[in-house]
Amino acid sequence: MIKAVLIDIDDTLLDFKRSSEEAIRLCFEHFSLDFNDNVIKTFHEINDELWRKIERKELTKQEMYGLRWVTVFHALGIECDGVEMEVLFRSTLSGIAEPVDYAYDLLEYLYKKYPLYAASNSSFAHQQKRMTQSDMLKYFKKMFVSETVGALKPAKEFFDFCFAEMGNPPPNEVVIIGDSLTSDISGGGSYGLKTIWFNPLDKELPSKLSPTFTVKDLREIKDIL
Ligand SMILES: [Mg+2]
Repeated sequence: MIKAVLIDIDDTLLDFKRSSEEAIRLCFEHFSLDFNDNVIKTFHEINDELWRKIERKELTKQEMYGLRWVTVFHALGIECDGVEMEVLFRSTLSGIAEPVDYAYDLLEYLYKKYPLYAASNSSFAHQQKRMTQSDMLKYFKKMFVSETVGALKPAKEFFDFCFAEMGNPPPNEVVIIGDSLTSDISGGGSYGLKTIWFNPLDKELPSKLSPTFTVKDLREIKDIL
């Protein structure tokens, strides 16, 4: 008996890759910088590594914001103020909300059956703006965003907050859906939740992790829940 469903936002409902690429293109246009595929590739490599450090608690999000574009510009040999770029990038990005394929389809199906809660590591205003812009906010009873929760997934404190807000249902009657093996699958699994790993790119599963279910396409979740 499933009592509630927690859903990650970035790269589960909203396509961070598509949205960030559009934001980068617009920012490069603003700074009259040459935009190409290598910019995108370098950004994702550095951004992914920085987020892994945040998840391992080796870096704070504020530190990451100070570093991200400085590091990308340095790697690309571009002379531009990385701190200024970071500010413009995040304000541009919060106005772009490209959905993941079939995200609306899934939300439309799930919200009629279960109470839905968003669970995201980000800034609240940023996610609220994007969820409003994409018209996804209406499907959720609440949004749990690390900035207001005071802890990041996969920390126990993040889930403690969510469960208290949801009225403390038994963890094994709650499902978390997400693309991150660290935040969503490992975090949710350790807390006792059922986990659905969204793995559209067919990434390999490390042997120490075992999601309850794995899907490649969000439509497959309708057969599970
Ligand atoms: Mg995600």
